Amino acid sequence: MKTIIEPFRIKVVEPLRMTTPAHREQVLREARFNVFNIHSRDVLIDLLTDSGTGAMSSLQWAAMMQGDESYAGAESFFRFRAKVQELTGFDHILPTHQGRASERILFELVGGPGKVVPNNNHFDTTRANIEHSGAEAVDLVIDEALDPRCRHPFKGNIDLAKLEALIEDVGAGRIPLCMVTVTNNSDGGQPVSMENLKQVRRVCDRHGIPFFLDACRFAENAYFIKVREQGYSNRAVRDIVREMFDLVDGATISAKKDGLVNIGGVLLLRDDALAERASSLLILTEGFVTYGGLAGRDLEAMTQGFEEVVHEDYLAYRVRATEYLGERLLDLGYQIVEPPGGHAIYIDAAACCNHIPAPCFPGQALVCALFREGGIRAVEVGSVMFGGDGHPPPLELVRLAIPRRVYTQSHIDYVIEASAAVFARRHELPGLRMTNSPQYLRHFTAEFEEVG
Ligand SMILES: *Cc1c(COP(=O)(O)O)cnc(C)c1O
Repeated sequence: MKTIIEPFRIKVVEPLRMTTPAHREQVLREARFNVFNIHSRDVLIDLLTDSGTGAMSSLQWAAMMQGDESYAGAESFFRFRAKVQELTGFDHILPTHQGRASERILFELVGGPGKVVPNNNHFDTTRANIEHSGAEAVDLVIDEALDPRCRHPFKGNIDLAKLEALIEDVGAGRIPLCMVTVTNNSDGGQPVSMENLKQVRRVCDRHGIPFFLDACRFAENAYFIKVREQGYSNRAVRDIVREMFDLVDGATISAKKDGLVNIGGVLLLRDDALAERASSLLILTEGFVTYGGLAGRDLEAMTQGFEEVVHEDYLAYRVRATEYLGERLLDLGYQIVEPPGGHAIYIDAAACCNHIPAPCFPGQALVCALFREGGIRAVEVGSVMFGGDGHPPPLELVRLAIPRRVYTQSHIDYVIEASAAVFARRHELPGLRMTNSPQYLRHFTAEFEEVG
């Protein structure tokens, strides 16, 4: 069989609300051309993010009824801990309400002024938590990542020469840990090879630097290793996951991605003393160590989610669904970040709308066009999101993120049709002017008007 089908059937449906072009036009104007201001009921296909937007399985919903809501020592926690231990081999397993809570606890403990934290690419909340502690966050991804056309199979890899140079430059004493993000979200959901992880481990060992994963999409990364890296095709994804975690001293996880839940996170640590201090901070701001700011039922859903996410038929479908959208967009003439990543397709908006000068936000223009055409909500990942400091990012992208197990192939075919219509009119799309530019994280609340 050539067709990789959705490996599930649907037991509960959530109706979509159909919208008309006139309605969408009004909604877009009322939102001041910022899709974060649009109510979800006015969105037809929501590709804003894959974070916390997935569909849970019947077994996850069933598990929630077994939530033990005891304040201390809840059974739900011990089931959760056993599952995460089985997957990762870690002993110190702290539940948190989401990924950034794990990051905040970690960097409050190891960050601070004068410290430097390398990563392939820091996700925005990771960078923000590091900088909030007074430390510096440095991105060291390989140069191939900056070329959208380059089909490097592991474009998320960290550049080892850049890592060595950084250590040489600032001194190992100022680097509390080295992080690698799997898959590399900020760089197109691109995977990191096992070979690269092993090399980072060697460099860290040589300099006595702890090595951590930002492991939000650990299962998608392990699947890419299985299908792309020599020597792994016969290995179970579960084993590859374990091999990845065996290489590191700790990890932060947002379970809103590969935990297949709507809320939840994890902090993994090996060092006993660090784990004790992290537990104190967890109790201070999240909750007691056996619930970490979550309900017992949320822990149950995560436990089952971490089981389902390493099922290989699920991962084959997941990666293929994203790749299918990417291939069709390439066929239409869009330049995307190649090869397609695990959780999203990134369109090169600067190439698509080359008549719109960079200061007029070609990415945001494309986002608006997709909403107008089909009620599709994408997100700009370019100068609106990252250009607030006056330094536009190297790439002007529009991200179509795929929620897990939510949309069927015909939904994606609809997205492709709308994208075709937009592509045909791409040279007529108007640019934008920012009329209200907040100081921090401006993409969430900025306002625009159309020009030209
Ligand atoms: C989503 C994400 C985070 C933050 O997790 P939240 O659950 O949104 O707080 C951190 N790192 C990466 C790579 C992510 O994708």
